[in-house]
Amino acid sequence: MALNGGLARLSRETMPSVLFPQAPVVRFAPETNTCPCGASLLVQKTRRKKVLTMIGPFIARETVAQCALCSRTFRSDTLLRLVASRSNVV
Ligand SMILES: [Zn+2]
Repeated sequence: MALNGGLARLSRETMPSVLFPQAPVVRFAPETNTCPCGASLLVQKTRRKKVLTMIGPFIARETVAQCALCSRTFRSDTLLRLVASRSNVV
């Protein structure tokens, strides 16, 4: 439907990724949603950071989760591996 298409385009154009076309936004979240202690994880926060890799910069939009019971925090293993492998975090 034409209306839906227009709304989708509008929301895309207001995304920060459009303002920085060279740095797409990639979302990362913990690979698990259950703590080893057995409790469910809650989203603690989301944060953005610019990551420079060999294939170019991108904006990582990272979701950090926290166990509701033992307060252990969980991050995206994928993002941690990317950042650890000789790339710079700004
Ligand atoms: Zn826990």
